[in-house]
Amino acid sequence: MAPSTEITRFVCRGGNELPVRVRISTRAKRRKLSLSYSGELEVILPLGYASDARSGLLDRPGTGSSSRYDLDDITDFLEQNRNWIERAVQRTIPERTAIQASREEGLPTSMTFEPLTEHWRVDYQHSDLNGIRIGRPAFLDQDFDGAHYALTLSGAVDDEGLCRLALQRFVLNWARQRLPQYVQGICDEIGATPGGINVKRRKTSWGTCSSKGLITVDARILLLPKNLARQVVLHEAAHLSIMDHSPQFYQRLYSFPGSSEASEKALKKASALIPAWLSDPPR
Ligand SMILES: [Zn+2]
Repeated sequence: MAPSTEITRFVCRGGNELPVRVRISTRAKRRKLSLSYSGELEVILPLGYASDARSGLLDRPGTGSSSRYDLDDITDFLEQNRNWIERAVQRTIPERTAIQASREEGLPTSMTFEPLTEHWRVDYQHSDLNGIRIGRPAFLDQDFDGAHYALTLSGAVDDEGLCRLALQRFVLNWARQRLPQYVQGICDEIGATPGGINVKRRKTSWGTCSSKGLITVDARILLLPKNLARQVVLHEAAHLSIMDHSPQFYQRLYSFPGSSEASEKALKKASALIPAWLSDPPR
């Protein structure tokens, strides 16, 4: 995905100001709008979008060339969609408040990996070390609500950015160790056979399934509620037999135990459930 450029701001009735970004997409068939949970408006233009005006340059992905866009044309388009934008701003208030709250919380003192039923305590120990050292995870006990662990970060722990980076690495490594077995377990349960299982840090989707049957899941599903993490796996497992998103696909997906349309919908908003220390780039 080509990075988009901020070109203007959109002012809602009521005074809320949203930064507007624009990019060209090879997949878009017509102009589209999207509002991110961080409150940015994105205008997506189809590859064929052409304008005589000279407002600015945009990358044409995959072509190595660029294209002009017309700021007036974009402003008109936003104005035509004012009602949609203002409704979307209202609708996403809970998600944006959650993101804001988690940003203000800073570094975590605990984390729960619901899909694995694991509870982690996170300790910070200051020392003269230049960077951050992450200690070996310490298993504490196993009780009615799952397994309890402690993790210790030591070194320059007053550097929030370094701590976040260390925690992000830890979560990715732990996800790589534990999630393949979790994914396999769900596949076994429904009689699906993936060609392989991969865990990555993804940006745009929770999971993918390749034509060769390789299932890839985002490491962040560790931080999702159980039912949603399960839905991600079931969705990709359903692609093992049906690659598209046809009605037949959803019929199959919703026939699996614990799979639901409500979870499928909730996943579209679920990035707001991921704490900022994990999703934001290190400061
Ligand atoms: Zn899909």
